[in-house]
Amino acid sequence: MFPPILPFEEIPVNSTPSTENVFKLPDDVQEFCNVAARIVREELLPLEQQYLASSEHAYGVKETINLKNVFGPDVVERLTRISKETGLWNLMVPEEHGGSGLSMLAQIAILEQFNYTPVPFPFANVPNILYQCRGEQVERFLEPVVRGEMTTSFAQTEPNAGSDPGGMMQTRAVRDGGGDWIINGTKMWISMAAESDIIMVQAVTDSEKRQRGGITMFLVERDNPGVHIEACGIRTWLGPKPSQYVVHFDNCRVSGANVLGDVGAGFSLGQKWLTIHDRLLRGPYALGKMQRALDMSVDWAKQRVTFGKPIAERQAIQWKLVDMSIDIEALRSLTYSVAARADAGEDVRTEAAMVKLVSTEWGARCVNEAIQVHGAMGEALELPLTLFYRYLRHAQIGGGTSEIQRVLIARKLLKG
Ligand SMILES: Cc1cc2nc3c(=O)[nH]c(=O)nc-3n(C[C@H](O)[C@H](O)[C@H](O)COP(=O)(O)OP(=O)(O)OC[C@H]3O[C@@H](n4cnc5c(N)ncnc54)[C@H](O)[C@@H]3O)c2cc1C
Repeated sequence: MFPPILPFEEIPVNSTPSTENVFKLPDDVQEFCNVAARIVREELLPLEQQYLASSEHAYGVKETINLKNVFGPDVVERLTRISKETGLWNLMVPEEHGGSGLSMLAQIAILEQFNYTPVPFPFANVPNILYQCRGEQVERFLEPVVRGEMTTSFAQTEPNAGSDPGGMMQTRAVRDGGGDWIINGTKMWISMAAESDIIMVQAVTDSEKRQRGGITMFLVERDNPGVHIEACGIRTWLGPKPSQYVVHFDNCRVSGANVLGDVGAGFSLGQKWLTIHDRLLRGPYALGKMQRALDMSVDWAKQRVTFGKPIAERQAIQWKLVDMSIDIEALRSLTYSVAARADAGEDVRTEAAMVKLVSTEWGARCVNEAIQVHGAMGEALELPLTLFYRYLRHAQIGGGTSEIQRVLIARKLLKG
């Protein structure tokens, strides 16, 4: 006897993410985590079905743009208001720029809560290298991004330069004889380039030095007449709407005031961004999804009956749940301890590569098991599992592949 098929809204989805944390977070941080969990439960989970069903949601870092496309301006305004009123908006913004002043560990604990659902919550999305803005750049670029009035995209990859951007980059910038720079070249796979206001682009400025002092980072306004953006023309499995672009710089003229940081220091700036903003934050990105996958699997296993017993009573299923929970505990311990070391001022570049590597590999493995526990229902697009899987599988490529993380870790191990 099989139970009746439940409509999707009645499928048990654990909607009370646990906020308990072995790292014994300070009271104010724990309070933030509780607020985050409440927002997820009361605001975001009710929007999940609409988000998953929409053909408008796109993969990319400009979440609020995705939100607007899917839900319209009212929902975005409401969530943005909640974000600002609760102080979450400035979660990742340093105190000197009006931010929360919370530690990396605290930020990670809070972000884990928001990754329990694919429905994005609006935060000030400031790539940390933008804090290198100086003089009039602060008012022109940094402050509007912190306020959420402008967004950025990051253009490093080129058709022939992915894992080895330093060695293979073709995009060049030359001085015009005065204070201006002329940029020529083509970038590819650039997420949300067409929707962003500022493109942070790396270009070779000294072809002898390349990544060792010969690559410069420019802040280029998207509406610069020398910028031409076209769709990649390659659809990926990340979302129904393509959100990666080819960006051509065709005699693109920018002033010296558009150089971010020092001339020639653009490659290390990019690496700095990737270490913290990208690699370390993959930890909470995966953890929230893995926890949700486990919670859903436990609920499903208890109620799905085969051969006269709930599948939760089968050891084959129990072991999947056990393996998932071990992956979560291990990843949480690693991520939180690396965050604590970053807070203590340690250089965690290698450890952040470890977080990137295992969060994406264990994350995909964990969600893969959740799909298996759910059987055919695991493949339903009405559940978040396949989307989580695609995101985590993609994350083994985007932002530096798993192999490149291993190269970085090996380099440190074998140094000297
Ligand atoms: C959806 C999506 C969004 C993206 N968004 C952006 C963006 O916003 N901005 C941006 O700049 N880029 C973006 N990228 C590009 C992404 O960062 C690159 O695709 C990634 O760095 C890998 O480069 P590649 O595809 O050229 O792979 P390749 O460099 O061609 O590598 C191919 C394979 O060889 C392996 N490999 C390469 N070198 C080594 C080595 N030394 N040792 C062992 N194995 C090696 C790689 O790990 C990989 O498995 C995006 C990509 C995708 C798919």
